[in-house]
Amino acid sequence: MTETKPVICYKCQKELVPTKTYLSYLGHSFSADILKCPECGEVYIPEELAKSRIAEVEMQLEDK
Ligand SMILES: [Zn+2]
Repeated sequence: MTETKPVICYKCQKELVPTKTYLSYLGHSFSADILKCPECGEVYIPEELAKSRIAEVEMQLEDK
């Protein structure tokens, strides 16, 4: 596990909390803990995370 620094919602000034969220990519859905604002529901997806998750999905697809 890598340590994550808190991300603050710029609208509400609230700390975003990791929330299990379903994402879809190329017609395949997968879940990831996405930082989400408990107040307004704004999600924050770091580019790094998006890339790594998508890479994982692509690898799974290639295995089949
Ligand atoms: Zn917010």
